[in-house]
Amino acid sequence: MKMIKIPKQDELDSFVKSRFYALIDEQDSSRLDRAIEEYERVVPFGIDQNIEQSSQKISSDAHLIMRLVATFYLKTTFSALKIDTDDENIKESLKDGNIGTAGRIIKMYTGSSLTDERELLSGRWSSEPRMALFDNSSNSSEPVFVTTKLDALCSHHFIRFGQEQDSKSYVVVGYIPRKKLGGISKINRFVNWCARRGWLQEDLTRYIGKKIEKVFETDSVFVSLSNLKHGCTAYRGACDSEATVSTTYLSGDFKHNKSLIPKRYLS
Ligand SMILES: [Zn+2]
Repeated sequence: MKMIKIPKQDELDSFVKSRFYALIDEQDSSRLDRAIEEYERVVPFGIDQNIEQSSQKISSDAHLIMRLVATFYLKTTFSALKIDTDDENIKESLKDGNIGTAGRIIKMYTGSSLTDERELLSGRWSSEPRMALFDNSSNSSEPVFVTTKLDALCSHHFIRFGQEQDSKSYVVVGYIPRKKLGGISKINRFVNWCARRGWLQEDLTRYIGKKIEKVFETDSVFVSLSNLKHGCTAYRGACDSEATVSTTYLSGDFKHNKSLIPKRYLS
C-alpha cells in the first residue's frame, strides 16, 4: 500500500524548542532539557484523577512542554482532517501573542499553568483546595445542605456536562455534622475543582460523596446531581436538548431516613 506521511521527530523537536524559548523568554538549553526530562517521567493517569492522586508531580516547565507537544500533535491532526492550518483564524502568530486554535484548544483542556483553575481539565493539575474544619462545639446535628455550580467534562466525548438555568437542574451536597463542622464555601470550591476532569456523572457523584465523608469526618452524606445536561447528547448525536441525567449518593442516616432531606431535593 502507499505510505501515509507522518510528522518527523525533528519537526516536533524544533516546534517545542522554538515555542519554549519564546514563552520563557530566554534560550536556556539546560532548562529545556530538564523540562523535557521531567515531562517524560510523568506516567499517564486516569482522566478522572488529579496528578497528586497518581503520586506524581509535574513542574510548570514540564507542564508547558506537555502543552507544546500536544499542540504540535493537534495541529498535525488538523492537517489530517484537511483543515488549512494557515487559515487566518486557525494559525498561530507568536509575535502577536496568538497561540493559534490548536494551542487554544490544548490550553482549554490543560489550563495555562498549574494554578489555572478555570479550564476544562484543570482539576487534573491544580492542587486540591484546602477545606477548613471547625470543632462542632455546640454538638449540632442538623443536616447542612449546600448548592453549588458544577462544570464537568464527559470522559466519553470531552464535552461539558453541568447544570442549566432551570430550577430542576442543580447540584447539592449535604452532610450531618459529627465532631467537626465544615467551611461551607469550601464545598463549592472543592466541587468546582474536582469536576474539572473527565468523568462519568455516576463516578463524580460518588467521588464527591466519599470525599465529603472523609474530610468532614462524617458517615452521613447526601449528594445530588439533578437533571444535568450533557453536551454530548444535547448538541450532537441524539441532538436531544431536553435529555438530562440525575445521580445521587447517599450514606449513613440519609440512606435510612429520607425525611432528613428537604423535599425539593428529592425527585
Ligand atoms: Zn458524553
